[in-house]
Amino acid sequence: MKATQRLDKILAHVGLGTRSEIKQLVRRGAVLVNGAVAKDSGMQVNPQQDKLEVDGAPILYREHVYLMMNKPPGVVSATEDTRERTVVDLLDKGYRHFSVFPVGRLDKDTEGLLLLTNDGALAHRLLSPRKHVPKTYYARVLGRVDAADGEAFKRGVTLDDGYTTLPAELEILSQGGGDGESGGDGESGSDGVGGNISGDGESGSDGGSEEHSEVLLTIVEGKFHQVKRMFIAVGKRVDYLKRLSMGSLKLDESLRPGEVRELREDELARLLV
Ligand code: URA
Repeated sequence: MKATQRLDKILAHVGLGTRSEIKQLVRRGAVLVNGAVAKDSGMQVNPQQDKLEVDGAPILYREHVYLMMNKPPGVVSATEDTRERTVVDLLDKGYRHFSVFPVGRLDKDTEGLLLLTNDGALAHRLLSPRKHVPKTYYARVLGRVDAADGEAFKRGVTLDDGYTTLPAELEILSQGGGDGESGGDGESGSDGVGGNISGDGESGSDGGSEEHSEVLLTIVEGKFHQVKRMFIAVGKRVDYLKRLSMGSLKLDESLRPGEVRELREDELARLLV
């Protein structure tokens, strides 16, 4: 990005209105640049160095924002959708003008960690198939997940479209179903998450009577419905899915579903290396 930019572009970027609204602000002398009343909304300004004020309030300029969301079920990972509520619809108005987008997709019924940003370069790095950024999911799976599934995931499983997945890491938290043995208590996962999922639809109930296993699965790629399809490849079905981490970024479990916060400096610094 150029060091200097048009004043109206900068003020629009921080959410002060459209270019024509900003022109009005400048016309009525509301905008100061380094203490002097700005005369031209098209004047060149360095947002990192020049001191900007509007109606007496200092303007804090930043190019990028980085938001962590605990995605709730029932919203789609998109910036807009003609029929469905999107994750961007959940953001405070104060963030809308930054034109953030979700970094990667979670299914409508998947919950958990979603990064939203307007930093295209970072998004590209995190999503690049060559970078193999690890993503860890908590999954509740109908039936008994066992060591053989872990071995299969380590080798790579073939999905319904013929694609063979890269090695993935499975950790079994609790086992249930199948042979009648049940080691799980139903909610003994890393965070006591609950809920049921079928396919890509709304969260719903499976009746609650079938036994299930709880696992953590770490994958280094991001194929469509990958976790669900990997379990289908070993003859099982994911009942609930929540992303816990992406690269160095971990879901802040104090965020309730639908809540958002900006990344802390240390989180961002680790993500940007
Ligand atoms: N894998 C899935 O199947 N769904 C998601 O939302 C993310 C990973």
